[in-house]
Amino acid sequence: MLADSHALTPSLDVARGILRRTFGHADFRGLQAGVIGEVLAGRSALAVLPTGGGKSLCYQIPSLVRPGLGLVISPLIALMADQVAALQQSGVAAEKLDSNTSLDARSDIWRRINDGALDLLYLSPEGLMQPSMLDRLSRLPLALIAIDEAHCVSQWGHDFRPEYRMLGRLAEVFPEAPRLAVTATADARTRDDIRAELRLQDCAEFVDSFARPELALSAERKQGAAGARVIELVKERMGRAGVIYAGSRDGTDKLAEKLRAEGVPALAYHAGLDKTLRADRLEQFLEAEDAVMVATIAFGMGVDKPDVRFVIHADPPASIEAYWQEIGRAGRDGQLAEGISLYSAADMAWAVRRIDGREVEDGVKQVQLRKLRQLYAMLDGVGCRPAAVRRYFGEANVRPCGQCDLCLSPPESIDATEAAQKALSAVHRLSGDGSGRFGRGRIVDHLLGKTKDVQPFEAKLSTFGVGREFSAVGWRDLLDQLLFEGLLREDPNEGRPLIALGDAAGVKAVYRGEQRVSVRKPAETDKAGARSRRRRGGESLAVAPTDFPLFEALRAWRRERAAEQHVPPYVIFHDATLADIARLRPATLTDLALASGVGQGKVERYGQAVLKVVRDN
Ligand code: ADP
Ligand code: ZN
Repeated sequence: MLADSHALTPSLDVARGILRRTFGHADFRGLQAGVIGEVLAGRSALAVLPTGGGKSLCYQIPSLVRPGLGLVISPLIALMADQVAALQQSGVAAEKLDSNTSLDARSDIWRRINDGALDLLYLSPEGLMQPSMLDRLSRLPLALIAIDEAHCVSQWGHDFRPEYRMLGRLAEVFPEAPRLAVTATADARTRDDIRAELRLQDCAEFVDSFARPELALSAERKQGAAGARVIELVKERMGRAGVIYAGSRDGTDKLAEKLRAEGVPALAYHAGLDKTLRADRLEQFLEAEDAVMVATIAFGMGVDKPDVRFVIHADPPASIEAYWQEIGRAGRDGQLAEGISLYSAADMAWAVRRIDGREVEDGVKQVQLRKLRQLYAMLDGVGCRPAAVRRYFGEANVRPCGQCDLCLSPPESIDATEAAQKALSAVHRLSGDGSGRFGRGRIVDHLLGKTKDVQPFEAKLSTFGVGREFSAVGWRDLLDQLLFEGLLREDPNEGRPLIALGDAAGVKAVYRGEQRVSVRKPAETDKAGARSRRRRGGESLAVAPTDFPLFEALRAWRRERAAEQHVPPYVIFHDATLADIARLRPATLTDLALASGVGQGKVERYGQAVLKVVRDN
């Protein structure tokens, strides 16, 4: 329309200047420049960038460059609080309005908005969509509207929030403001849903690679008491911050207690806890450098602690999206971190039952069941884990990561088709009509011919005692494998699971030898190998031994500043920034500004104090 509209678009150089001065980063990375350029030109966009990919700068910087107020919609108060605190530390005029904001603070914020003195305002979707709020805001010039965690708008996503659906109306209420939807997880279907619901049909889409090269991933089938294995894993990682996801509230309480008995500073977190207790524990976790949070998935979105060194799934996640997001909370500072998942066939059976019992349309159920099967195919698979996840998200030409357990020690598999035929027909014969009246132990005993007080009918079956080639453990593994592949299914039967034949076509194909079944060679040696060769999160933080005393002194200094201001330490400086300062040993403020993550605001606020720590150590 305007011939010179190009000239009116603020250039990316202005944005880059702010990136350097205010945020202390040398240049844009990944798709940031593309997204920011689009918004600076006044156009809406959808950006899918991996966790830690720098989504927030995509809306923070245009809010500073473009005239008017930048609105950020975020689903969680904790998330807003963290971002606002970090922005204020960098000298950016940012505030949040939520149900906790006092009347005085509110009127002060509005005064600053009306004076044009505020650059960014964070709001919940409910808060924004109140008629009085919309009315007030619609009379102001807006730099942009950012919709964070945009996958929450989609039923196909995994964090569906009905209140996000209201945000479609923003297109009419604020026709002039570019809208930017950002998220870390959205497969193609979820992206379509975001576009439709948020009325972003014609906008540009930026989808970055889902690679997280700083994560070393592994997964293990549960063996024996799962709690004991988790404790062992945590004790090997003592002194580092971690998150453990457990399936039930009760499970988190018990596991946290056991960990504390072992000297681990563990906290439990779930939706059943009182609100203030939860807030209190979240704060403790954020401010500590070595705390372990044992939580249900109620703990998650908005937890932006950058120095989480490991995430352990004591119970498996619900889908690959959930997996990637949950383990994605480790290593957000870009330093090496670990994601370890424990899973079992019983977990899968339980999840299937839960989906079956949901009151949702059949179509939605089918999607959820498919997602569940894809998750277990990845967990129990034999190929690189991150590669499997990235292909699932639609990436092409994905290379193996080289550092997951499966890359480091590829499991050897053996053909077990014949044994599978024996197991399937044992289940078939034992259960007669196929209804499944026997548990796993009983089937193993039957195959080994060791059933106690065996009934004459059973001893006469052709499958009785035909399985001497495997040990009891070997048969259990094979039964698990058949469960994961859907060839058998498990009915939980109130904690005493019964086994029956699964997918009829698949079973037939195995009987005929058309479908092969392979099992992993016994896990023991694999696991030890992977463990000894695996790099551990935290050990590789890029600090040379000679710089370490200064790094530790800087951390101690940061701890004090954080405690004084009641903010998490990483809001002041990230570990990676302190590591960089320890390496550079700056003597002047100009030198200090060269460290990654040190912007002008931080130089003014902390520069002299940091130089003193450097001089003294
Ligand atoms: P997320 O995409 O998970 O919301 P954040 O916006 O919180 O990610 O950014 C993750 C980390 O990456 C932050 O520590 C941020 O300071 C850093 N970061 C963002 N952009 C850049 C950049 N261009 N160069 C270096 N570090 C960056
Ligand atoms: Zn790998």
